[in-house]
Amino acid sequence: MTQILTGHGNFNQKLASFKLTDKEVCECGQIDDVKHLLLNCPLNEDIRINQLTLITGRII
Ligand SMILES: [Zn+2]
Repeated sequence: MTQILTGHGNFNQKLASFKLTDKEVCECGQIDDVKHLLLNCPLNEDIRINQLTLITGRII
């Protein structure tokens, strides 16, 4: 949770900025950062929809 809130987690874009990996993209091919994880990654879409449904009480 702290990594998500601060944006300083093990996201490929951040790791690449420290030269800890040579790729800054997610497995889906887009830049891997907090915003991508929470809002855009198609690989996490099912989890995102389930969480939004739990939070809002509505089926998204
Ligand atoms: Zn992705």
